[in-house]
Amino acid sequence: MNTTILGYPRIGADRELKVATEDYWAGRVGADALAETGAELRAEVWTGLRDAGVDGIPSNTFSFYDQMLDTSVLVDAVPERYRRLDGLDRYFAMARGVQDVPPLEMTKWFDTNYHYIVPELGPDTRFRLADGAAAKPLAEYREAKALGIDTRPVLVGPLTYLLLAKPSTSGFGTLELLDGLVDVYAEVLERLAGSGAQWVQLDEPVLVADRSEEEIDALARAYARLGQLSSRPRLMVATYFGTVGADALRVLARSRVEAVGLDFVAGPGNVEVLASVGGLPRKTLVAGVVDGRNVWRTDAKKALATCASVLGLVDQVVVGTSCSLMHVPLDLERETSLDPQVRGRLAFAKQKVAEVVALGRALSDDTPIPASEQLPEAGVDQAVRERLGSMGDTRRGDRAARFAAQRDALGLPDLATTTIGSFPQTPEIRRARADRRAGRVTGADYVKAMQDEIARVIALQEDLGLDVLVHGEPERNDMVQYFAEQLDGYAATDHGWVQSYGSRYVRPPILHSDVARPRPMTVEWATYAQSLTSKPVKGMLTGPVTMLAWSFVRDDQPLAETARQVALALRDEIADLEAAGIRVIQVDEPALRELLPLKNEERAAYLDWAVGAFRLATSGVKDTTQIHTHMCYSEFGEIIGAIGALDADVTSVEAARSHMELVGDLRAAGYENGIGPGVYDIHSPRVPAAAEMEENLRRALRAVEPGRLWVNPDCGLKTRAYPETEASLRNLVTAARRVRDDLTG
Ligand code: GLN
Ligand code: ZN
Repeated sequence: MNTTILGYPRIGADRELKVATEDYWAGRVGADALAETGAELRAEVWTGLRDAGVDGIPSNTFSFYDQMLDTSVLVDAVPERYRRLDGLDRYFAMARGVQDVPPLEMTKWFDTNYHYIVPELGPDTRFRLADGAAAKPLAEYREAKALGIDTRPVLVGPLTYLLLAKPSTSGFGTLELLDGLVDVYAEVLERLAGSGAQWVQLDEPVLVADRSEEEIDALARAYARLGQLSSRPRLMVATYFGTVGADALRVLARSRVEAVGLDFVAGPGNVEVLASVGGLPRKTLVAGVVDGRNVWRTDAKKALATCASVLGLVDQVVVGTSCSLMHVPLDLERETSLDPQVRGRLAFAKQKVAEVVALGRALSDDTPIPASEQLPEAGVDQAVRERLGSMGDTRRGDRAARFAAQRDALGLPDLATTTIGSFPQTPEIRRARADRRAGRVTGADYVKAMQDEIARVIALQEDLGLDVLVHGEPERNDMVQYFAEQLDGYAATDHGWVQSYGSRYVRPPILHSDVARPRPMTVEWATYAQSLTSKPVKGMLTGPVTMLAWSFVRDDQPLAETARQVALALRDEIADLEAAGIRVIQVDEPALRELLPLKNEERAAYLDWAVGAFRLATSGVKDTTQIHTHMCYSEFGEIIGAIGALDADVTSVEAARSHMELVGDLRAAGYENGIGPGVYDIHSPRVPAAAEMEENLRRALRAVEPGRLWVNPDCGLKTRAYPETEASLRNLVTAARRVRDDLTG
């Protein structure tokens, strides 16, 4: 093995997997047709990799939904409630639920935008190899072999599987199940060896986060057992998404595994850690030097230098990707409308494979990397740079003074009511946007359609009796894309799809150059809405961290620097909104927690720039202008201090499902500004009674005074329909009024 990749996109060049699975769910095609599409997609990937010249070709990286779910099915970790179904129906029920059986939870795969299905494990879990010889990794291995391709089956490693699982009963530690799980892995390895597999890849990305002594012991135990198997393929343990912990690497170094994968892109510290443990003598290192998570071309010189720097520390260096390529789009060739200056800097999965092969050749027989033309550089905006250079302290004035000023200026009651921004996106709105894109309607007709919708939403909110209104966001397809399309420095792709979860794929914009705002982005819609009502209309923006988190971001300068450029554009937008008479402005940061580094020691620096960017965006306003922010979760944990540091006047968060607990938590952490704990869960069509929301408000009032308590749903309403939205908001206003009356009466 000289070259390898850790995984490849499985969705197909034309999103064939999405079409096939959704057709299957809708009953339009049967299981056979779905299976056939799967086989075609796999064959395409394997033969494509072989033809490109990769010699370590992975298999079992395909999935009809998710690799963690595949692992649960492989080891028969199927909760009782799904057992009355079988085969694909059971599989998809675990992923998506059926009538009265909810699905397993889904959560983010480390700090990526991919989501996995969380295994649910408890004291009763008994692992076994569910399908014996027909199990997926075995079947895929044989399938590739029948095509003449000898692959390296990829499995989620046992430690990662257990540590990412959720205990079904509180107090249960999933590591208690380690030995039973490793028994099943042993069986899989033995069977794979029996089928002829030379190598198996075990993915252990959990090793790049901080790990306890107990966890390191578990790692040692698992790999000691697997290493000792008398008949097994060679083992490659892949770590990725950061620098591996020295303890973990030491364990792997001492184990019998034949190869270790390290991510030198997200984990530049890996060179040092590798040296600090004395290297991996007699082992192969898969050097992840081609970025599997971002879309930039590899700097070949730098990549080769990294490989050269570790040559003496290991037995052999194999050139690889930093992680699976499933996190990048498939093929840059398809992007014919990208600016050549931008395109020249990009590589998608297919191009990254070619890079790996070229680097492998350069490393093994000194075949020089084809002298590539000078890479184009990022666009520089001198004006933006100069302005940022002279930005001083970006902290707002005294919070008590602001509070008083805003109360007077806005004339709001205690327990003021509002929403998070979006209103239901009806088929008519979606059609209007699609027509606009396709050029089927004139600009004027489109503006009229949006204005009509805004007028309807304003009238509805007046009728409901809400205190701070919104325009409803009908013009936005997506909260990041909408702004990316209007900012300089961002580009959109035509086919750049990546899997977010299951059959949901996203097309993240590419932030490639200095960011600037050529013209106002939201002012027209906000002021139109404000012209229709005397109540304050809240302007709606997406914050700098979220603008980066859901995009592919340039890697030629620190994220912190790029965040400041986005923040400056938002600061100008906020100034324009304020000047146009908008008195309340919300800057959403739902991704603030997502970008939190996996390692403790890196978190403070991240939060520092993230908070700084938010403050840069929001600190230019008058004391009377009220800044809101919104986050879609209630477990603040590590970031609770940062919430206060953002210094928004009002923060709305999810809280209904956790019964307002976080209001007390925030208070305890020293948060003193306004707080809008979501009083109802918008993720379901259920209409909560006023009494239920009232109860939530009374609970919140134990930790916050009425003037600082806001009343709002958990999140935006765009995925809901009007009937339940209207009914729920009516109850919300009733609940707020009842509590208010009690307080005054
Ligand atoms: N303002 C956005 C909305 O209401 C916020 C979305 C989000 O938090 N993800 O849709
Ligand atoms: Zn939200």
